[in-house]
Amino acid sequence: MDIDALRKDTPGTANRVHLNNAGAGLLSRQTLAAMTSHLELEAAIGGYEAALQERDRIDETYTHIARLVGGRADEIALFDNSTHAWNAAFYSMAFEPGDRILTGRAEYGSNVLAYLQVARRTGAEVVVVPDDESGQLDTAALANLIDERTKLVGVSHIPTSGGLINPAADIGRITRAAGVPFLLDATQSVGQFPVDVAEIGCDMLTATGRKFLRGPRGIGFLWVRPEALEYLDPFVCEIEAATWDGERGFTWHDGARRFETWEVSYSNVLGLHTAVVQALDLGLDQIGKRVVALGAYLRDRLEALPGVTTYDLGRDRCAIVTAKVDALPTADVAAALAQRGINVSTTTPEHTQFDTENRGVHPLVRLSPHYYNTEDELDQAVEVIAEVARTAG
Ligand SMILES: *Cc1c(COP(=O)(O)O)cnc(C)c1O
Repeated sequence: MDIDALRKDTPGTANRVHLNNAGAGLLSRQTLAAMTSHLELEAAIGGYEAALQERDRIDETYTHIARLVGGRADEIALFDNSTHAWNAAFYSMAFEPGDRILTGRAEYGSNVLAYLQVARRTGAEVVVVPDDESGQLDTAALANLIDERTKLVGVSHIPTSGGLINPAADIGRITRAAGVPFLLDATQSVGQFPVDVAEIGCDMLTATGRKFLRGPRGIGFLWVRPEALEYLDPFVCEIEAATWDGERGFTWHDGARRFETWEVSYSNVLGLHTAVVQALDLGLDQIGKRVVALGAYLRDRLEALPGVTTYDLGRDRCAIVTAKVDALPTADVAAALAQRGINVSTTTPEHTQFDTENRGVHPLVRLSPHYYNTEDELDQAVEVIAEVARTAG
């Protein structure tokens, strides 16, 4: 990977040390150009006319996303973010009193709230599968918990709040053997390393454009296994999702498009198109090796600092690194980094409720490098944290 060239194509690297890719990755010059040129085309000839002119490239977006996750183009639906993609899958399932939804401690905050709402509404029960001693989802416990009451296993591949990589393929083997639907929130993993729906064995997968995929804000997608369409009754019906049959009925569109809405930001779609092609061209294997190595580099150095603790769980860890200066509020550490032009974010207790319940460690400083970051940039962040820890201690 030619890091210098990749940085030249990433304007933001000139201004900031951007270690907030779990929040939003930096756009490449090419992605920015794809988006702005489409906006200019809309302004020049009209929005509908611009979409018509770019129809092929818009359609190709589905093909590229399908390649990215190992599915087919008609198994992809686009949304304005990952949460809406996830909602489209989850809220299209039917639950009855006594049904069980199994999830993990790392589950994303909005997913947890959705489970709780549907449990309240239907009498279904939410069961949190415990972690194993490493802090990843305990697959033996999951296998024991799955029974005829289990209607869904919903898991976050990587939490929003740390470096853990949950054992998605092991979970998939268990859900497939049991014939239970598996909804994987892959918002933090897609774009970080190879994520393949066949290898994982999930039935529904959701992701966002803006994080490790480096696409624009305001776009996300759902992948659905065709067999899952048999038990998913889309929770909304509108003119993009279905066609009127001329009488008093309608027919769902083929494939995953039945979950989509009619209106979409085509500049975002074309920005995502470019970002996905760039990720595929670089190779998710290569990207994965580098981001995981940068994460480990950063984690090791922070862990070695007196007065600093890292909090990433699990056997396999990704580019996300979470840490705390023992004697200083997390907000102060983040502010010190921001003052030196280093972008990070902080975790929020309410965004991973089941993890908070268990560990109570949030907020933590969350540093999330991408492949275009350098070891020197990581050293700069470590130096600032070392300094504030020294002063505080
Ligand atoms: C960011 C995040 C989401 C939400 O993605 P949006 O695109 O903001 O809706 C869902 N799950 C996880 C694990 C996330 O980190």
